[in-house]
Amino acid sequence: MHSVSHSLKRMGKKIGLVPTMGYLHEGHLSLIKKSLELCDVTVASIFVNPSQFGPSEDYEKYPRDIERDNKLLKEQNVDYLFTPSADEIYPSGYQTYVEVNEISKKFEGEFRPNHFKGVTTIVSILFNCIQPDYAFFGQKDAQQAAVIKQMVNDLKYDIDIRVCPIIREYDGLAMSSRNVYLSPEERTKALFIHKALLYARKLIEGKETSPQTVVDNMRVIFNEEKSIKLDYIGIVNAYGFREVDLLEDGNEYYILVAARVGNTRLIDNELMRLQ
Ligand code: AMP
Repeated sequence: MHSVSHSLKRMGKKIGLVPTMGYLHEGHLSLIKKSLELCDVTVASIFVNPSQFGPSEDYEKYPRDIERDNKLLKEQNVDYLFTPSADEIYPSGYQTYVEVNEISKKFEGEFRPNHFKGVTTIVSILFNCIQPDYAFFGQKDAQQAAVIKQMVNDLKYDIDIRVCPIIREYDGLAMSSRNVYLSPEERTKALFIHKALLYARKLIEGKETSPQTVVDNMRVIFNEEKSIKLDYIGIVNAYGFREVDLLEDGNEYYILVAARVGNTRLIDNELMRLQ
């Protein structure tokens, strides 16, 4: 990968990277399309990164289908697919990790300790292998994108980070490789998450300025749906990912939800741009 990226650089090509864990869906493909549009060369990576999974999480059973993914990427005319093995990335004796402090600790960081440390480490390694000019991430994982932006800023990577909108199923469920875990009944229940987010959007569009009131109202809805176990609801400013006391015009906020439906943990969010 180093020799490919060096020769692309020598030719003055702009390289776009789309890092994924595979089992591709339209959400991933939207990032690929953006990269193909903006860059001369697009590199997709597929790597199910063991260091971002907790000991009781789904690393082993995470869905994988490299042949299907390969076919989808070829159809999109992606230039390179980078699929290192776990042993190549983390050979025995590996001991270096990249950690972003404050922004990694709340929300996902609270429920998945060490998750972001694994993410920033692998993304850092991919940046070093691929040397991209642009890297594309999904708003679906809004905190992840904020953590990566912080890392890029702090470590002075010369990489333009682009965050692309959430792609949803026809009925509003945010696309995710983990949706295959849902039984038909759970899938119907899971729609509740997006509905709650739309309800919050409506409250804020109706000039509700207290994040606490919005969150309380959302909690009331979730309390009615016992089969969904909330991990958190939060409202943060879109830049620093900090919780706020007041929603103010001219600012952007994320409404965040993480919940478990059966054994499947789902996250979703809504970006609010207040005029
Ligand atoms: P993953 O394979 O789950 O690690 O995701 C790889 C990239 O695709 C991440 O930047 C995700 O945020 C992004 N992504 C995942 N699902 C979606 C979606 N529904 N819409 C847009 N981007 C997504």
